[in-house]
This record gives sequence, structure tokens and C-alpha cells, in this order.
Amino acid sequence: MPYSYDDQNIFAKILRGEIPNNTVLETEHTLAFNDIAPQAPVHVLVIPKGPYVCYDHFALEASEAEIVDFTRTVGKVCEMTGVGPGGEGFRLISNAGENGVQEVPHLHVHILGGRNLGRMLQKG
Ligand code: AMP
Repeated sequence: MPYSYDDQNIFAKILRGEIPNNTVLETEHTLAFNDIAPQAPVHVLVIPKGPYVCYDHFALEASEAEIVDFTRTVGKVCEMTGVGPGGEGFRLISNAGENGVQEVPHLHVHILGGRNLGRMLQKG
């Protein structure tokens, strides 16, 4: 079992209603909320409600209904925040594991926009 989910992570607590969040959009399988420490004018996190550690875990093991709902929610958040269709663009990031420097071990994608974000990676 390569994936071990820790249900005490902060996003699990948000999903259980133990910690507040600034919700952008909630659907059957997905929650989108503003990042508590935004790094751009638009900085929304999108998470599945299911217990998935990281993107590869979700991509390999989530149901088709969860995957479709998650992906459509990303699209809707892009529309709602104005970065998406016809907007000035955005960056979608999902950090995973140690080399990806993932801080919260519950899958999340960052939607970042509202300013020019520079090059994708700095050297070193
Ligand atoms: P990562 O490094 O990809 O795991 O990113 C974790 C993100 O979660 C960071 O951008 C944090 O600012 C954000 N974060 C941590 N706690 C909260 C919280 N309670 N509500 C919203 N965002 C949070």
C-alpha cells in the first residue's frame, strides 16, 4: 500500500468542519477554498473530499465520478475567479511528496493568478 492517509491533516479537519475555511465552491466530491497565505491575487486550493494523499494517488484510485467532479470544479473556479476562459491565465500546481515539497498530505491543486507569475521554476 504505497499511500497512507493521515486523517489528522489540516484539510481533513476542514472537510470535517473542525476548522473554518473561506469556501469558493463546494460540490458533491470537491471543495475549493482560498489559501490562507495567498501568493497571488487569486490563490484557490481545490481538494477532493475523499482521502487521497496526492495527485497520483487520486489519479490512480479515485472513481470516475470523483475525477470528473474535481476536474470540472477546477474549471468552474477558473471561470469564477476570472483567470480562466478569456482571462489572463493562471498556474495550476500540485506538490507531491518530499521532492515536491508537499506540506499538507491531502491532495490539493493550487490555482494561482491575477498577476504575472514569472518562470515556473527557479534554478537550484
Ligand atoms: P503545499 O505546500 O502544496 O502542501 O501547500 C499547502 C498550502 O496550504 C499552503 O499554500 C498553505 O498556505 C495552505 N494552507 C495551510 N493551512 C490552511 C488553511 N487552514 N486554510 C487554507 N489554506 C491553508
